[in-house]
Amino acid sequence: MADSPLTTLNNGIQIPQLGFGVWRVSNEDSIPAVTKALEVGYRHIDTAALYRNEEGVGQAIRASGVPREEIFVTTKLWPTGFGRETALAGFEASLKRLDMEYVDLFLLHWPAPGRDLYVETWQALQKLLADDRVRALGVSNFAAAHLRRLVDGTDTTPVLNQVELHPTLTQADLRETHRELGIATEAWSPLGQSEDLRHPTIRQIAARVGRTPAQVVIRWHLQAGNVVIPKSTTPARIEENVDVFGFELSPEDVEAIEALDAGNRLGPDPEHFDG
Ligand code: NDP
Repeated sequence: MADSPLTTLNNGIQIPQLGFGVWRVSNEDSIPAVTKALEVGYRHIDTAALYRNEEGVGQAIRASGVPREEIFVTTKLWPTGFGRETALAGFEASLKRLDMEYVDLFLLHWPAPGRDLYVETWQALQKLLADDRVRALGVSNFAAAHLRRLVDGTDTTPVLNQVELHPTLTQADLRETHRELGIATEAWSPLGQSEDLRHPTIRQIAARVGRTPAQVVIRWHLQAGNVVIPKSTTPARIEENVDVFGFELSPEDVEAIEALDAGNRLGPDPEHFDG
């Protein structure tokens, strides 16, 4: 396969635009999944403390023979661990489970506005950047108001915001805010947890261009500029999902997919979720 394009983040570091997600993959199952992903060319793995598979992910990465510095590793801090001291301890616990010296990207998993701790937690995490324990800090599930509070109230702009984003939830307004603030957009549940693959428009485009619905949706994310992290534990799909660099969607097809937005949120609403 061709290598994923790289997206340059606002602190100058680069992230492979196509990565591999492991939510709802057990620690045991994460080992063959990540092993397969690395074999077929993914160089970006997205995990979280919540997923309880950091150990398996770390093990698969070490056993792959791919040098650590060639793999971009993201993990996340769950809101129950927010707060100055607990956040740093939470990071160390993740690093220990991964059995790594550093992670490339550490995210606040949700803003959890009801806890009102994300600003002070973010400030505490600056130490990890200063100490070279992380190459970048970012957030996940932040709404525009949460992002502005961080940008206005602290010295570090998140490099990216990882949010639910797929053809039936295109997040046009939030993406505009990201552009304005210099924050990259990363799409979680990029296939709509496979629901969006059944949409007739997606199926028609796939049939016309001779690709699968998943390849069309991943290609749309790439052309829209999103960092994208599809998940699969099926070896043939892991391979299918990375085989997206040999074709291009026309501007009309990109527009047709963009028009499928239906506000179809599959996960919690970040304004009302405290973890
Ligand atoms: P996805 O949109 O990636 O969809 C995954 C589902 O699609 C699985 O059921 C998978 O099945 C199926 N699938 C994958 N590839 C294909 C294919 N080629 N053809 C048909 N079906 C396919 O959902 P996720 O929710 O897993 O999101 C991806 C990643 O985003 C997560 O793994 C996680 O890393 C991240 N995430 C982050 C969140 C956050 O709050 N920050 C929240 C949710 C996700 P199978 O595995 O059986 O092949």
